[in-house]
Amino acid sequence: MKIICIGRNYAKHIEELDNERPVDPVIFMKPDSAVLLKKNPFIIPPFSQDIHYEVEVLVKINRIGKFIDKKFAPKYYEEIGLGIDFTARDLQSKLKAKGLPWEKAKAFDGSAVIGHFYPKTHFDLDNLNFKLFKNNQIVQEGNTRNMLWKIDEIIAYVSRFFTLKIGDLIFTGTPSGVGAVKPGDVLVGALENNEAFKINVR
Ligand code: ZN
Repeated sequence: MKIICIGRNYAKHIEELDNERPVDPVIFMKPDSAVLLKKNPFIIPPFSQDIHYEVEVLVKINRIGKFIDKKFAPKYYEEIGLGIDFTARDLQSKLKAKGLPWEKAKAFDGSAVIGHFYPKTHFDLDNLNFKLFKNNQIVQEGNTRNMLWKIDEIIAYVSRFFTLKIGDLIFTGTPSGVGAVKPGDVLVGALENNEAFKINVR
């Protein structure tokens, strides 16, 4: 199983990190060892002083495919979820400055929080609200209508490079409002009115 992540998919998040608006989707991956096991707390790794949450809509691939046309992309997923792409922002900034790959900052153990999945038919995928609460305060609020690349466009694009397999996950990018976590924080993700995950930070 692989996790394919999209970077810079919401204009306001691009602005908050002072990034360039990409011509094509920015793609990176997390290995299966990045998945935070169910019910485990997120433990801040010793190599970073600035771990950020990034709440993101997740897509679970349920068919094998390559070179998928955008109009057939809906056949490749039935379920939508919500998760966190934890990022060591200090490390990522150093790697970005040197033009190096981001893996150490993005793909470390526990960096992929995967919440509950729901049938996609429960939602309007072009107008899907999601939120992240930190200690009961809303810190991120997004809507899929603000994505630069929609889910079906992402599937078409990434499948040009990587064969999608059953069980692969796509993290579709984070809206603005990213920020740091510290031990004791509690993060709760909501997809519309569903609590998709609750994570304790240690
Ligand atoms: Zn992200």
